[in-house]
Amino acid sequence: MAIATDVKTYTNYIAGEWTGAGAGEPLEILNPVNGELVYRAVSATSAEVDAAVASARNALETTDWTENPERRAIALRKLSDALKSLGKDLARLLSLEAGKLFPVSLTEVNRGADALGFYAGLARAIYGRTTTLNPDSLAIMLREPVGVVGIIVPWNMALSLLTRPLAPALAAGCAVVVKPSSMTPGATAEFIRLIDEIEEFPKGIVNFLVGSGGTIGDQLVRHPDVDMISFTGDTGTGKGVLRTAADTLKKVSLELGGKSPNIIFEDADLDRAVKGAINGASFFNAGQVCIAGSRVLIPEKVHDEFVDRMKKVAEELKVGDGLERGTQLGPVISKGQQDRVYKYIETGRKEAELVTGGYRYEDGPLSKGNFVPPTIFDKVPVGATIAQEEIFGPVVAVQTFADEDDAARVANSTVYGLAAAVWTKDINKALRVAKKVKSGMVWINTFGKLFAAAEMGGAKQSGIGRSYGLEGIHEFTELKHINIQLED
Ligand code: NDP
Repeated sequence: MAIATDVKTYTNYIAGEWTGAGAGEPLEILNPVNGELVYRAVSATSAEVDAAVASARNALETTDWTENPERRAIALRKLSDALKSLGKDLARLLSLEAGKLFPVSLTEVNRGADALGFYAGLARAIYGRTTTLNPDSLAIMLREPVGVVGIIVPWNMALSLLTRPLAPALAAGCAVVVKPSSMTPGATAEFIRLIDEIEEFPKGIVNFLVGSGGTIGDQLVRHPDVDMISFTGDTGTGKGVLRTAADTLKKVSLELGGKSPNIIFEDADLDRAVKGAINGASFFNAGQVCIAGSRVLIPEKVHDEFVDRMKKVAEELKVGDGLERGTQLGPVISKGQQDRVYKYIETGRKEAELVTGGYRYEDGPLSKGNFVPPTIFDKVPVGATIAQEEIFGPVVAVQTFADEDDAARVANSTVYGLAAAVWTKDINKALRVAKKVKSGMVWINTFGKLFAAAEMGGAKQSGIGRSYGLEGIHEFTELKHINIQLED
């Protein structure tokens, strides 16, 4: 299946039907590379939010979806295959709507297909426990689907951050209402089209709503008939979601922001570590990655050499349109985000030493897009704003440390705890530091690798709950204890 080129206006998908471009607010999605119109979309109305939730509930109550793991496994397997076959077309759209590098978009598609395939397998292996409690009492702990789940997704990895919760939610037997970011609904809509084509998905099990977080997202979070919200996004927004969800006491899982430390010891393979520092800073997605190693921690002894080498690599990165072969850094998502990043750069100039970047593209093709050059700040104090706040742009802060304990102290000096990395040839040191760092994930001698089969998630203010792996599917279940009185 290919993406139809005549599809220019995306609408909402409720109870197995695409709605017309009705009364909802129209949206225009612009290419971050040059500001040109990519497609239009139409927001859902408040009545359509209610209809999507009702359709999800109805599908759960009137079909065998919750009771038929084999059907769910087949549906997810087919979806995984269909997504793979849409590969390059969908990757192109992801690049157009978000300014992403084409290879990064393709990785998103493949990662999404992998997650769907992984959870297709797990759909038939959602085991509870059974135990004898005393001579007359047997316990069955049954894992049941939570019910109707609202999945709220950000724009920076629109497809992989959708499939990450969607695959386990569906595998567990839930019905979902998906709300992508209003800045990137198009690739998600194309993905939903694939679901529409697969007969094993009952109509209404997956619904899709376009619209802003403040209206459509908020209504989903408040909705009394939504049992759970799976939210990925900014920590501040996540706190608001948690507060709002308290009124209906629904289950909430939160995958939030980070300020991840990339800790490099002097005995590391420095060639690999320099690449790891640049790659970890996620310049490949203009720094717009939740797990980005946006702080590089270096010991005094190798500091000068290491920063020089990082500077050289950063200055050689090719900045431009992500659809052009060889581009290594694309634009940030919007003018608003570009302004925000430059504000942090101005703050950084007062707090630390600018090593490279920080300038504006005043003319030429890059001035038409939301570009920010790769920017490195050195000697960034622990308390500096640019060391504490998530910038979500191509800006990295270099900090120094004295020894292992100091490395852990600096690493732990923010409110975030999403990810970290340790680079050293001494595995004992690596493990000691990995255990001292408070974060949901720690890499040793690499950065940023994620796997459908292995959990990730936030400690501290980076989130609640875990994605991927076995825990990722347990998030979408409730444990019910069925107690049996045994008679002689
Ligand atoms: P936002 O928090 O602004 O938005 C995330 C989603 O929530 C969007 O769909 C948004 O809709 C919606 N939303 C906004 N306000 C509300 C609300 N009041 N109620 C319900 N939904 C709402 O984050 P960004 O999209 O800017 O994404 C960047 C952030 O996401 C960064 O902080 C990043 O670290 C984090 N992130 C975390 C990841 C993780 O795994 N921990 C992974 C990737 C990103 P709309 O945009 O349409 O207004």
